[in-house]
Amino acid sequence: MSVIKDETEWFSETLEERTAFSVRYVNKLYDEMSDFQRIEIYETEMMGRVLVLGGCFMVTQKDAFIYHEMLVHPVMMAAGNAKNVLVIGGGDGGTVTEIVKHAGVESVTLCEIDPMVVSACSEFFPVIASGLADPRVTVVNDDGAEYIRNRKGEFDAIFVDSTDPVGPGKALFEVSFYESIRDGLREGGAASFQTESPLFMEDVFAMSVSDLRGTFGKQHASPYLAVVPSYPGGLWSFTFCSVSRDPLKDAPEELPVGIANQLRYYDPAVHRAAFTLPVFVRKLLEPKK
Ligand code: SAM
Repeated sequence: MSVIKDETEWFSETLEERTAFSVRYVNKLYDEMSDFQRIEIYETEMMGRVLVLGGCFMVTQKDAFIYHEMLVHPVMMAAGNAKNVLVIGGGDGGTVTEIVKHAGVESVTLCEIDPMVVSACSEFFPVIASGLADPRVTVVNDDGAEYIRNRKGEFDAIFVDSTDPVGPGKALFEVSFYESIRDGLREGGAASFQTESPLFMEDVFAMSVSDLRGTFGKQHASPYLAVVPSYPGGLWSFTFCSVSRDPLKDAPEELPVGIANQLRYYDPAVHRAAFTLPVFVRKLLEPKK
C-alpha cells in the first residue's frame, strides 16, 4: 500500500462554499482521476478510512454501516424473500455487503459506472466491500440509467446508491430513470433510493420525493430518515418505493434468523421509527400552495 502524504493534514468537504465538514487525516492512501471523477482515500483519526469522490464524502469506516443498513434492510424486510436484486451506483460495495446477508438472495447485480471506484474500495475497504466477493454477485460497469432501461420485471429489489445529482449521477435523479426502476421491479418488488439531505438539500429532497410519488403513486413512495454524520448536515433521507408493498405493514416484527447479530443500526423498531418524519420534513413534502 503506497502512502502519498504522511504528515497530519485536514480534508474538508465544502457545501456551496458556505459550510465545511473537515476531518484530520494522517495518511493519504489514494488519489487518482478516473474517466468520471477524482477518487481520494484518506486514513483519518476520527472516521477511519474515508472515500471521497469529486470532493464529497462517500464512505467512512466510522459511519458507513448506518447508511448501508438503512438503504438495504427496510426493502429486504418489506419485499420479503427477494431473490434477484440490483444495485445502481454503490461501487464501494457496502450496499452489496448488506444484501448478501440475506440467505434467500440468489443473484445481485451491481451496476457501477466507474470501475476504479470498485477496485480502489476492494483494496482499501476490505470489510465494507467484502460482499463483492460473494459468488452470487456480478459487477457490471455501465451507466445505471442505460442498464435498467427495458429490463421489465427482472428484479425483486432495486437499490439506487448514487452520488449527488451531478455528473453521471444526474441521470439517476431523472423521472425517466424512476420509471425504468418502477418497470424493472417484479410484482411485489420494492426499491430504495438515497434522496439526499432534507436539511441542507431540501429542494433536491422535496423534488426527488415528489417525482418518485408521481412515478410510483402518492401512497407508494415513502421517505425515511437516518443520521449519517459524515454527510452534509448529518440527517439523511431515503425513499422506499413500491406499487405493491407497504414499508410498515409488510415489514415483519422479527429479523430473519442469522441476520440480527450482523447488524449494528437496523432492527424492526428502528425501521418503524425511521418512517416517522419530523414536522419540518413533512412540511417540505406538502403540495406548494
Ligand atoms: N453512499 C454514497 C452517497 O449517498 O452519496 C454513494 C456511494 S457510491 C460510491 C456512489 C457511486 O455512484 C459512485 O461510485 C459513482 O461512480 C456511481 N455512479 C454515479 N452515477 C452513476 C450512474 N449514472 N450509473 C452507475 N453508477 C453511477
